[in-house]
Amino acid sequence: MKADSKIYVAGHNGLAGSAMLRNLNELGFKNIITKNHDELDLIDIEATSNFFKTEKPEYVFLAAAKVGGIHANNTYPADYFFQNISIQTNVIHNSYLNDVKRLLFLGSSCIYPKDSKQPIKEEYLFSGPLEKTNSPFAVAKLSGIAMCSSYNRQYNTKYLGAMSTNLYGPGDNYDLENGHVMAALIRKFSEAKKNNATTVSLWGSGNPRREFLYSDDLAKACIFLMTLSNEKFDSLLQNNLGSKSYPIINIGTGEDISIKDLSLLIAKISGYKGKVFFDKTKPDGVLRKLLNVDMLHDLGWSSKTVISEGVEKVLKNFNA
Ligand code: GDP
Repeated sequence: MKADSKIYVAGHNGLAGSAMLRNLNELGFKNIITKNHDELDLIDIEATSNFFKTEKPEYVFLAAAKVGGIHANNTYPADYFFQNISIQTNVIHNSYLNDVKRLLFLGSSCIYPKDSKQPIKEEYLFSGPLEKTNSPFAVAKLSGIAMCSSYNRQYNTKYLGAMSTNLYGPGDNYDLENGHVMAALIRKFSEAKKNNATTVSLWGSGNPRREFLYSDDLAKACIFLMTLSNEKFDSLLQNNLGSKSYPIINIGTGEDISIKDLSLLIAKISGYKGKVFFDKTKPDGVLRKLLNVDMLHDLGWSSKTVISEGVEKVLKNFNA
């Protein structure tokens, strides 16, 4: 990927895509294509096909997806399945038809079995049943991995799946019903502090552990992967994971924290001094999903933003 390579960032208004765009710009990439949703709906087969034929991108960052927290995934399973399958199928197939040189397909740690050994290695893919609360999303993403793998095998394409852990950062979805835990806690504690509230109510038991990656770190990792030498990139595509070969790599920090400890951290940084109540009628989801990031570390990349620093940044951004 060179400074003047034509790069398409799909989903550039989202948490991950906006960080990719920001970081590509900062690094001096000058020929980046983006389309707002009203200009191009990636669910529309014909519109996506026309876009690729006209623009002919050389590199694609596929960060467009329908994403949401545990409640949204549990409530709108059909939307999560249909929209993700459609977007990725259209983008990956048209990338193949239009000779895209490299594609990075963004996935998530929820593709792994719910009872995976921890930390989760790439090779644990397909080794057991999925977590129920988000399995339609996970199956869609697994299909995207299978699609990348199939096109690589049959057409010699170079499509890599980057499996990200839980993300947070500026521009997150702060909707309390549909967002993820980090954004929800940032909002709940900020507003409680501002309103002098005495109780903040959180979901589940507080026992589940999650790994949180700052969105700019994810973006840096993705650009690092897309700019690897041919030899290194090709070796990732041929990852021999267990008995099958899937072109994926985990992106995370290698550290997790319980939701309870996360709430204490955000309460402290936001200056909230009241009580925290855990509503056990709400689901916990998987107990733990910590990614093993040895493969990424061995290539020479590791995340830089520690969680306290990241929380401070997003709190500032939320309150701005
Ligand atoms: P998950 O990682 O796919 O399970 O999705 P989330 O990021 O939505 O939730 C992670 C964990 O945080 C789950 O155990 C939730 O029950 C817990 N949690 C606690 N309070 C909240 C909240 O206010 N919103 C969300 N989304 N999750 C919460």
